[in-house]
Amino acid sequence: MKIVRSIAEMRDMVADWRRMDATVGLVPTMGGLHAGHLSLVHMAGERSDKVIATLFVNPAQFSADEDFDAYPRNEDDDCRMFEEAGASLLFAPPIEEVYPADHVTKVHVGGLSSLLEGEFRPQFFTGVATVVSKLLIQAMADVAVFGEKDYQQLQVIRRMARDLDIPTEIIGAPTVREHDGLAMSSRNRYLSEDERPRAAKLFSAISDIARATAEGADPAPLCDAAARQLTEAGFREVDYVTVRDAKTLEHYRCSEGPGRVLAAAWLGKARLIDNVAV
Ligand code: AMP
Repeated sequence: MKIVRSIAEMRDMVADWRRMDATVGLVPTMGGLHAGHLSLVHMAGERSDKVIATLFVNPAQFSADEDFDAYPRNEDDDCRMFEEAGASLLFAPPIEEVYPADHVTKVHVGGLSSLLEGEFRPQFFTGVATVVSKLLIQAMADVAVFGEKDYQQLQVIRRMARDLDIPTEIIGAPTVREHDGLAMSSRNRYLSEDERPRAAKLFSAISDIARATAEGADPAPLCDAAARQLTEAGFREVDYVTVRDAKTLEHYRCSEGPGRVLAAAWLGKARLIDNVAV
């Protein structure tokens, strides 16, 4: 696996592959790798001849009081894991390569970005849409793979790629979980030994709501009860537990298509998010 730090080097590599008629897949990450990230590399490898993994902790998606400085960074381990998973190229640019000092353009996806996560992290999706649109344009891959773990992010990226006519197919990959159901996340390492077993309660709570909603129950009281149970289980703040339309993320009506249960809650220093299909 070759490691490159500049957009020009990545584009040269892609041009070489294109001359050999190879197709290209892209897997953007912020590192702190776990099996969830590697599943995206595997999926990209099934859908394309060459896989570019990217490693960039994107300052634009963190607010001043979030964990940008503390975010887990271990490039050596991440490189080894990407290589073992079959990536052909790692693009790990320095901040100035992505955001030169005179960079002023932002990509804002209206509507979707202001719901749910957007209410609690107002800068977040504009930061994500800006960096992902840049990566998609820089790599001009045939496919790009993102995790359903960040379900709203996946919908925002799909909409952004469509609205900007970026000719890359956006693929969603299923959430990889720990043995007790906790969704794998780079931020799970913020959980203490005591908090870790309780964290799985988030997945069990939203799974119960998904099951009952599919059987015809009214989701609103179920979501309220789940939020109370999470608080009783030691979560210090529940940002939301809600059932939404799987595509628009507006409030769910069972007659109008598939639903998605989404939740975000704080356990100690970790803000956990998760979602499941109804
Ligand atoms: P991150 O490094 O957290 O920005 O995530 C990079 C990519 O990995 C995003 O597309 C995430 O949705 C995806 N991802 C993170 N956790 C998981 C997981 N547990 N299962 C599958 N994909 C994941």
